[in-house]
Amino acid sequence: MTFQKKTLKKTNKKDKGDDLLLAAKTSSFVTEIPLITTSIDIAVLGARLESGRQLYNAVLSEGKTRLQLLRNSELYQQAKLIAKTDKKRRSTAFLKAREAYHFSDYHLQAFANKTAIASIWIKSHLDANTIQKIATRAFKAVERMMFGKAKKVRFKQKGQFVSLEGKSNKQGIRWIGNGVEWAGLKLTGIITNDPVILHGLNSKIKYVRLVRRILNQKTYWFAQLVCEGMPYQKPKNIVADGTVGIDLGVSTVAIIGDQETIWTPFVVELTSKQKEVRKLQRKMDRQRRANNPDNFNSNGTVKKGKKRWNNSSRYKKTASLKREIDRKQAAYRKSLHGKLVNQTLKLGKNIKTEKVSVKAWQKKWGKSIKFKSPSSFQSELKRKAENAGGTVLMFSTRYTALSQTCLCGNKQKKSLSQRVHNCSECGLKMQRDILSAYLSRYVDPKTETLSIELARNGWLGMEQSLLDGWRVGSNQSARTATSLKSPTIGGIERMSSNPITSEESEPVRVNETYAVSWNPPDLSVG
Ligand SMILES: [Zn+2]
Repeated sequence: MTFQKKTLKKTNKKDKGDDLLLAAKTSSFVTEIPLITTSIDIAVLGARLESGRQLYNAVLSEGKTRLQLLRNSELYQQAKLIAKTDKKRRSTAFLKAREAYHFSDYHLQAFANKTAIASIWIKSHLDANTIQKIATRAFKAVERMMFGKAKKVRFKQKGQFVSLEGKSNKQGIRWIGNGVEWAGLKLTGIITNDPVILHGLNSKIKYVRLVRRILNQKTYWFAQLVCEGMPYQKPKNIVADGTVGIDLGVSTVAIIGDQETIWTPFVVELTSKQKEVRKLQRKMDRQRRANNPDNFNSNGTVKKGKKRWNNSSRYKKTASLKREIDRKQAAYRKSLHGKLVNQTLKLGKNIKTEKVSVKAWQKKWGKSIKFKSPSSFQSELKRKAENAGGTVLMFSTRYTALSQTCLCGNKQKKSLSQRVHNCSECGLKMQRDILSAYLSRYVDPKTETLSIELARNGWLGMEQSLLDGWRVGSNQSARTATSLKSPTIGGIERMSSNPITSEESEPVRVNETYAVSWNPPDLSVG
């Protein structure tokens, strides 16, 4: 299990202490390595985590109090009166007020140290560096509230505090050789030959974070190495120049590059498990209602106002089961999206596609399609294409109506079930998503309208590739449909488990007569 994240560490210059010694901005990435733990290790780590949680809450509470005093203070009120345009004087005044009320990372670190020393229990479980990092974390939470970025601070309940981190790889929690060492603990990492992990291990480690996760009711610990530099770039993800038109549908996605057409089911692999999620959701709902009859109105809706929820252990078990599947689904979805993004960028980095409206999708297909998360696919695509120096155009469907448009200019409304475009005017026949994606390539970025002229001119050179994509996609879906034995409950279920229905998977053999090149009927009008 690995992931990498690019972060820019911003050091708050107002904070005193060691942070100032760090470079103001260095990029870093995270390499995650699972750890081998005995039951004794788990018990020791659990106790340290618990003392960390209590310390965090103590600092958070102190920070809140100090913030309140600060806000009520004369100095603070005076600072507030200084005009915003007088930046320098204003910020100096605020700084002075913060200093007077000991509201800073530095001061809360000192408070945390004192608190830890006063409690033998905390001091015996945590080292100075870890204590300081906990204080910084709590301070930042209060600071977010001060800047209006958070409404309130939340105290961590048992189970909500799941990580501890060091300050450097020199003291406290450290990565040494092939594992973590921390005050008597030695935890070996599970190191594979994954180049992502090897790249992390070969980089300079800034500090190490230990993270606890409970999967299938078992406790696992992971080391997150926060490394200096840039994350590993997988060489296989080649990004090509060229234009790509995409039609992202609820069940399939058509991706049309200059030379190649991909028409494939859209994250259909998630469907079967999603049924299980919904089943658990319904079960939780039933259990909740049975345990809390007073919280519901006679018509079944939840009563307004403050309520106490009595969650039975059975309910909790169902909830934990559901969380587990949700987590797996999210990870799976991310990897499926990523794969599709890489496939797309191999065809070209200049992307044109309709902006997906999840609302419109839900209107057409029901709420249940939310799990496919089309917008996160689109934003991932946008991010990666732009990172590679490409351009991304997401046009609104309002002016284009590509799904109704034919190459000859004829506009014809299609029902959702009609998956093949078959023009009554010119006789053009093409899978509708592929045609839409093709037309997307010719949407003008400035006007966000389709240039039908260019689309016509391009057709001859592309038709073969489009037909190939249609044929390959049809065969692929036939295979997918047999391997995914999803029952066909409702229309949507059927749509997504066997996305390319028999109507559209009719054999498309390029040599057959109907697949001849399209001849424009009469272009003299346009
Ligand atoms: Zn036509």
